[in-house]
Amino acid sequence: MTTRPDTKPAVIAGGGLGGLFTAALLCQKGIPTLVLERLSALGGRFTSKHVKGFQIGTGALHALPHGSRGPAAQLIRQLGLHIEIADCVPRCGVLRFRDREIYAADVMDAIKVGNGLLEQAEVVKIVTCLLRMKRCEGTLHDWFLAHSGCENLYRAFNGLCAFALGMSCRRVSVMAFVNFMKDVRRFGGPGLIRGGCKGLVHELERYVLCNGGTILREAALTHVRVTRGKVSEITFAVGGQTRSMPTDFLVSSIDPASLRGMIDGEEPDESLTHGLDPLYGIKVSFWSERPLLGHSGVLFPLGWDNVSGVVEPTNADPAFAPAGKSLLIAYHVLESKGANAQIEGMLSDLSELFPEFARERIVATQVYSGRYPVNWAPTGEGIAGNSQIRGLHFVGDAVNAPHTMAERVAASAQDAAVCVIREYTENRN
Ligand SMILES: Cc1cc2nc3c(=O)[nH]c(=O)nc-3n(C[C@H](O)[C@H](O)[C@H](O)COP(=O)(O)OP(=O)(O)OC[C@H]3O[C@@H](n4cnc5c(N)ncnc54)[C@H](O)[C@@H]3O)c2cc1C
Repeated sequence: MTTRPDTKPAVIAGGGLGGLFTAALLCQKGIPTLVLERLSALGGRFTSKHVKGFQIGTGALHALPHGSRGPAAQLIRQLGLHIEIADCVPRCGVLRFRDREIYAADVMDAIKVGNGLLEQAEVVKIVTCLLRMKRCEGTLHDWFLAHSGCENLYRAFNGLCAFALGMSCRRVSVMAFVNFMKDVRRFGGPGLIRGGCKGLVHELERYVLCNGGTILREAALTHVRVTRGKVSEITFAVGGQTRSMPTDFLVSSIDPASLRGMIDGEEPDESLTHGLDPLYGIKVSFWSERPLLGHSGVLFPLGWDNVSGVVEPTNADPAFAPAGKSLLIAYHVLESKGANAQIEGMLSDLSELFPEFARERIVATQVYSGRYPVNWAPTGEGIAGNSQIRGLHFVGDAVNAPHTMAERVAASAQDAAVCVIREYTENRN
């Protein structure tokens, strides 16, 4: 039996945010699409589980870095998904120093109200210089030391880098930070997804299924056949059986090293994983009987070394916690020292920051390392979305796409979908 080219489905490996966004875009154009998800649940690092009545993210903090105006929100609107995004207030966040808090609606606001703490003229000089920058090599840390001695501004940048880009100033490149600042100016600060990460994943699943797509859970991609430089067949394991099917397109959101090991028929291609440099982190979710932040923005505790940021999503959607309780999520970059030592440091800082904090109130402590990172590659780095193997595309946070976190995942999905739609149409004609 031969299969006509236009009836072979495009296969999406991984039912996380990247895979589902791509599947939705392909289904929107009427392309037969099959999503394979290894686990019984969809969403990957962008969904939530119920723990003791609280909605705890498998990864993400229920937030989109650029809220209702960013690339992910634009894609959500383009697909017509029923998802509400509550822009954080304050948009920029709250900077908490040992002796004072700065409530900042935007960067310039932070500078104005932070006068004294943030040395106004210096901040204006540095921010203006960064925003005008077109090219610069090296890390933000090195650049900053060469251009400014404003310690509090460095702390503010460090908190922002850790929370928004998943790494400290020592690791983030100047241009990644500059591009992030430009994105903040263009789209605004973060927003919380009402219904959480899981709400978005449910909506994407509904969209894919209603538009002709197929989703198989507990279906793990195991082999990819490449013939004459082109994807020709995939094999997956489902329900204790192995199945193979011909396809012209594979869009992968699974970890690139595993994918590389699945390729048959050609020499393993080093370029498929070149550029990966995973970022690791720790998340502590705890509850309180009353709101401790009282706003939906990010708290940056700049006088403390072991917590990069804290959010209280129940201020945007009380459904994240049982009635009458607040859910707080603290995040910190996982450095080279062991996770246990860092968790202890986080708990000690949380006790200082919130007198109400108690270990018994911790709902979950999650460590993201090894094959479950915060991002597979830093923002502004990573593998190419289009591989040299025809028909093989990558999406997700391993890909060097613009923007950060879910915004970058959305951008990579848009790019992959454009390529597949074009190639699919060419094959058919
Ligand atoms: C602690 C933490 C906090 C974060 N906070 C935020 C935030 O607040 N906002 C934000 O925008 N982003 C945040 N992120 C980043 C965001 O979660 C990720 O960028 C995003 O979820 C990546 O989506 P993905 O689809 O690329 O990958 P994944 O979510 O990893 O999806 C890959 C999927 O592939 C499946 N899979 C693996 N192997 C196979 C196989 N062989 N066959 C079939 N399926 C397979 C996996 O089970 C998984 O479902 C955070 C991440 C972490 C870890």
